Amino acid sequence: MQKILSFKLLPSEAADETAVKNYIAKTEAVSTSAVHGYNILKRSIDARSKQAWVNLTVQAFIDEPYQERKRLSFSFRDVSKASSNVIIVGAGPAGIFAALKLIEAGIRPIILERGKDVRSRRRDLAMLNKEGNINPDSNYCFGEGGAGTYSDGKLYTRSSKRGDIDRILNLFVHFGAEEKILYESHPHIGTNKLPHIITAMRQKVLACGGEFLFEKKVTDFITGKDIITTVRTADGDSFAADAVILATGHSARDIFKLLHAKGIWIEAKPFALGVRVEHPQSVIDSAQYHCVTRDAFLPPASYSWVQQVDGKGVFSFCMCPGGIIAPAATDPGELVVNGWSPSKRNNPYANSGIVVSVEQKDAAAILKKEADSPLLLMNFQQSVEQKAFNAGGGKFVAPAQRLVDFTGGKISSSLPDCSYLPGIHSASLKEVLPGFIHDRLQQAFKQLEKKMKGYYTNEAVLVATESRTSSPVRIPRNSETLQHPQLHTLYPCGEGAGYAGGIVSAAMDGERVASRIAFTLLHH
Ligand SMILES: Cc1cc2nc3c(=O)[nH]c(=O)nc-3n(C[C@H](O)[C@H](O)[C@H](O)COP(=O)(O)OP(=O)(O)OC[C@H]3O[C@@H](n4cnc5c(N)ncnc54)[C@H](O)[C@@H]3O)c2cc1C
Repeated sequence: MQKILSFKLLPSEAADETAVKNYIAKTEAVSTSAVHGYNILKRSIDARSKQAWVNLTVQAFIDEPYQERKRLSFSFRDVSKASSNVIIVGAGPAGIFAALKLIEAGIRPIILERGKDVRSRRRDLAMLNKEGNINPDSNYCFGEGGAGTYSDGKLYTRSSKRGDIDRILNLFVHFGAEEKILYESHPHIGTNKLPHIITAMRQKVLACGGEFLFEKKVTDFITGKDIITTVRTADGDSFAADAVILATGHSARDIFKLLHAKGIWIEAKPFALGVRVEHPQSVIDSAQYHCVTRDAFLPPASYSWVQQVDGKGVFSFCMCPGGIIAPAATDPGELVVNGWSPSKRNNPYANSGIVVSVEQKDAAAILKKEADSPLLLMNFQQSVEQKAFNAGGGKFVAPAQRLVDFTGGKISSSLPDCSYLPGIHSASLKEVLPGFIHDRLQQAFKQLEKKMKGYYTNEAVLVATESRTSSPVRIPRNSETLQHPQLHTLYPCGEGAGYAGGIVSAAMDGERVASRIAFTLLHH
């Protein structure tokens, strides 16, 4: 007999297979030997009370042989002889999952990526972290796997399309991710594992006959009456296109400028900007697990927070327990931070973006001349990043302030150790952040103490600036055909086009666009 059972256990019990089997046996009033095995269907942590619990839902096999969890299967086809040219610009999650979906549909994808493969990319990241030299085409945002490759690899999304999410998670497992991402309530993969998974995906695309070309920066689109006929790259190559999936991410400012210069419609899109705050992980563990020392069977604690402050949303963004703050700029002279964690999340720090939503009217009040431009919010974002770079003193050293000093308007006389490898420099963040952001952050940090005891401490440090939270531009598309309203072979896709905010939602959007193209090419 198979039974679906839900129960809560102590963290140590939940990690012990025999303890779980004993629990199943006790609940079902059978002997432990009658429990032949179980699959975890859902696992979450409930840390609301002093004692943290693990909630488990399991599929138990009682008096019948255990069967492994059923996984989704995928059939990737040989597309080497397929005739149509679908060009995918950008090998982030949107581009790669679009390519895989096209292959399932029998269509041959050609991926053009401005950056390098994951392994070569790693050397450029080391140069950035150690020497403060940035490669504008190969960095934390650009290169194989996109912005998600050297990230925490958190795989949660606000989307409620369970079927689509399951497909994406199953694809990650198919290409090497651990099976637990299928049942954890907050799955993540980790920076050390993502590159192998991305490599396996690329190898599949190539094995099926698709093309995956690196250091191919797209610099122009040649258009016909209402189509793109050709895609041009910086090295002088041209690619004829039946359809173009534009999945260049939130940081491809040159693409936004190119579209605007060519009269291809784009729109300014609200985003959020602020700082990244880093605490000792032990402070967050104590606050969230109500303890002095974290139970060895509990993962490093995380948090997520959202609040209205003076009529604007202020929220935590991309929290990385046991993580590292990363320099996520794409150009010299601009300072952007984000965060990543290894799969074990075993670094001694917890970092998170704390950001304030930015609308057109906020940016217009600051950049008065450009109020009508679709690039207004992008230019605003860039101007803050440039201020942050200058305040840090160069080489991607970041301006920083202790948390309580920040709210008290005092420059820190010393800074704590920080995971950010290029280094931090004591500065007044009031000089970097626009007033409407700075003042709300001051209030927000004080309020956070009410949510998390111990959070409001001068042991924590704020690092500026967290600015690439989502795209400051939207590339419009028809909600049904997913085509750009002017160019019906142009398919804006993923986070850069404004249709995703994270790895899973970008991957889902890639699949959606690819399915639509398959429908159009195969049925018309
Ligand atoms: C450090 C860091 C940590 C993050 N952590 C998480 C996390 O834990 N969980 C999560 O869900 N999200 C995370 N994110 C966000 C996530 O990575 C993005 O939401 C996601 O990658 C967006 O996917 P995308 O495919 O739309 O775009 P991107 O991943 O940005 O990919 C766009 C690709 O297009 C390429 N490109 C750009 N311009 C051109 C051009 N002109 N020609 C050719 N190629 C071009 C770029 O090189 C890039 O590879 C993180 C981001 C960063 C930077």
